[in-house]
Amino acid sequence: MGTSRGRRPDGSLRIYFEPNERAYEDLLDELASESLTICEVCGNPGRLRTDRYWQRTLCDGHAIRR
Ligand SMILES: [Zn+2]
Repeated sequence: MGTSRGRRPDGSLRIYFEPNERAYEDLLDELASESLTICEVCGNPGRLRTDRYWQRTLCDGHAIRR
């Protein structure tokens, strides 16, 4: 799949990606789009709110509260 996993001597997991790998770009797109559709407070479906001085991804319920 273009990815390989290995453990460093300190035990931390490293995931290697091959540059220019299409699967890598798809993963980034997936993560980016997911972060824009999930409320960062409760994890429910939401959307990016840009109508305030901040930009956060919030569901309808959390977008109302400040
Ligand atoms: Zn929420």
